[in-house]
Amino acid sequence: MAPPTIGRKSKPSGRGGKNDVRSLKRKRDVEDHIKLQKAVEELDPKAETKSFSDLPLSEPTSKGLEASHFKTLTDIQSKSIPLALKGKDILGAAKTGSGKTLAFLVPVLENLYRQKWTEFDGLGALIISPTRELAIQIFEVLRKIGRYHTFSAGLVIGGRSLQEEQERLGRMNILVCTPGRMLQHMDQTAAFEIDNLQMLVMDEADRIMDMGFSKAVDAIVEHLPKQRQTMLFSATQTKKVSDLARLSLRDPEYVAVHEAAASATPTTLQQYYVVTPLADKLDTLFSFIRSNLKAKIIVFLSSGKQVRFVYESFRHLQPGIPLMHLHGRQKQAARLDITAKFSSSKNSCIFATDVVARGLDFPAVDWVIQLDCPEDADTYIHRVGRTARYERAGKAVLFLDPSEEEGMLKRLDQKKVPIQMTKPRSKKQQSIKDQLQNMCFQDPELKYLGQKAFVSYTRSIYVQKDKEIFTINNYDLEGYASSMGLPGAPKIKFQKGDDSKKIKNTPRALLSSDEDSDVEAGSKKPKKGEVRTKYDRMFERRNQDVLSGHYSKLIAEDEPERPDDGLVDADEDNDFLSVKRVVPMDEDSSDDEEVASGPVAKVISGIGREPIVVDSKRREKLLKSKKKLLKLKEKGQKVVFDEDGVAHQMYELEDEDDFARRGTVEAQRAKFLQAETARVQEADLDDKQLAKTKKREKREKKRLREADEKAGIVDGEALELAGDGGDPLALLASLPLDGEEEAPTVKRPKKWFEDDSDQEREAPKKKRRLIEAEDEPETLEDLEALAAGLLQ
Ligand code: ADP
Ligand code: MG
Repeated sequence: MAPPTIGRKSKPSGRGGKNDVRSLKRKRDVEDHIKLQKAVEELDPKAETKSFSDLPLSEPTSKGLEASHFKTLTDIQSKSIPLALKGKDILGAAKTGSGKTLAFLVPVLENLYRQKWTEFDGLGALIISPTRELAIQIFEVLRKIGRYHTFSAGLVIGGRSLQEEQERLGRMNILVCTPGRMLQHMDQTAAFEIDNLQMLVMDEADRIMDMGFSKAVDAIVEHLPKQRQTMLFSATQTKKVSDLARLSLRDPEYVAVHEAAASATPTTLQQYYVVTPLADKLDTLFSFIRSNLKAKIIVFLSSGKQVRFVYESFRHLQPGIPLMHLHGRQKQAARLDITAKFSSSKNSCIFATDVVARGLDFPAVDWVIQLDCPEDADTYIHRVGRTARYERAGKAVLFLDPSEEEGMLKRLDQKKVPIQMTKPRSKKQQSIKDQLQNMCFQDPELKYLGQKAFVSYTRSIYVQKDKEIFTINNYDLEGYASSMGLPGAPKIKFQKGDDSKKIKNTPRALLSSDEDSDVEAGSKKPKKGEVRTKYDRMFERRNQDVLSGHYSKLIAEDEPERPDDGLVDADEDNDFLSVKRVVPMDEDSSDDEEVASGPVAKVISGIGREPIVVDSKRREKLLKSKKKLLKLKEKGQKVVFDEDGVAHQMYELEDEDDFARRGTVEAQRAKFLQAETARVQEADLDDKQLAKTKKREKREKKRLREADEKAGIVDGEALELAGDGGDPLALLASLPLDGEEEAPTVKRPKKWFEDDSDQEREAPKKKRRLIEAEDEPETLEDLEALAAGLLQ
């Protein structure tokens, strides 16, 4: 069955009938397919193909590439596309910005096209990306070059209701996804067909195969058919045998175009590093930004909290360039908004975590600044790869603490990264330390952010694997805290892996003497002459009320930092001031000396039967849980009210005389029994009737379902009719592009992440029809409605 050719339909000529034209066209299509298949078989993968027109590509793909202004192939494209067209498994490695996306998207479209894939064949290709932003970008490129194809393509990246995605999923031919969300669907979406899958692509494969995603990826791969083509791409590709085995690659071709190159980074990229002590790096960054107000800059930091603090504090300082920030814990809509804004901006500075380190193709970025040292050389390569893309120029600066310099430079050298030292011009260097201190003094929320940022930074250093670069004791943490405007470095206890639970349950008094399990990094020593504020004292207190939750989080957050992988969507600050019940504070306990001596118990009465004694963190937690408090309360009693509003117990004893007046005990019992028997019999009849109807309904449903299964083919054809009429939802051909004129009859379908409301408003009929076709019809009415919809 030839795929429907919406969008490329030629008008029937006056003389020939409609049918003639159709059959002619179908014949031509069949011939084209045979020709194309032959050309691919004869293609020599070693031949240096220069331009897309030299490749045996289908007409829709060629037109799509041409319309997107892609003419000549990049190295990785000319080496890997021919092999991929021939169905080979591929391990593709090429520098950042060298065009790897097209190297897998073109074969995906082509191989499905040559197999005459239609929407009824289910999912043909699955493309996995480590982050949502990258998935969206890949999807956009797919839309661009696939616009003349009729495949349906979708995005599965979370951030929107599972059900909405589920409805669309059953119809998709090509999916671009993030691992976590995909797995969720494979486990939960019944109508999701993956047995037919032909191609699996992993962009940024080394990232997807590493620790953070390994479980999800293994589970996904388990669901997939073994007989398939697998393509892995990355700028830092590994040939790890274990990975290849996990993905059951068949005799893969290793296509590495820059392996022999002198550098692992683009030649158009100039790379520098500055050695700046931790305590000065915010000053240096600010001075840098101040002297590059006309540039487009990305600043990488190690955690979302760092990002937030630097963004919020720099915003107050108004450097004179639009500032933005992006990290994995922002709401999806905000993330989309910010990436779009940064993409289209001419001069701006974005503070970001590694959530944008991989794959993102922001146009015309001038500078990549790495304020926090990357965890390894690979991360470095990907971060700097956000600039100098596709033959453009770009510059990158790495900030190094003196203690990191030697180790990091060694790692970069091993990975063939050419980098040279530079020094910030002292004339332009300005200090923002005083301003930050003022700001934190005046705004406790900013200070709180700063403390969180400090803790997360220190923690990230502590958990770094490469101890040759990162040694926690070598950093001037006290100086860093003060440069952030904090009155002192928050005290941090580092707890090792599995011990953390044990430690958590140990009484605090014991813990403080247990130095073995803890590493103390920076502790609060009030300096002479230092101005101390009430906030300082507040944060030092141990048994405070509202802020105690935050404070304990600050000093003993034993949850490891979650990787900023784009899968996290929770708003990290939901916990701000989230204590539901505030323990009234004991006035006397605000005295500093007394507080320092340890936790003081509080007694709260009026909640439970007995007063609640709060003498530990666990008891304090109890106050937040309604359920637990319920246990401490007295059991309620049910009362009824009479007409005068007087409360009575549910069962009250009747006056004995009144009882005797109504007859003997025997007679009353017999009467009661008779009445109850009659009531039960009546109820029994009703129940039986109900059971009967239910049974009948069930049988009817089953019959319909079976009839439905048998008529599966008929159903398919009916759907095709609908498709021929121009199903607007799923077909790539009907997807117009930004800045392009829309065909007047074809409505642009909303992307899944866009607001659906207008679409529903504009085309309620069509939408309902499609959903009905997806839903399993359960009653006769459903079936009728479905048939009516299909034949419409
Ligand atoms: P990579 O995945 O290797 O980092 P991308 O696929 O994101 O690189 O491509 C980088 C940039 O190069 C993109 O802006 C893309 O549009 C452009 N590009 C890719 N292939 C070509 C080509 N053949 N001709 C012109 N531009 C290309
Ligand atoms: Mg890429």
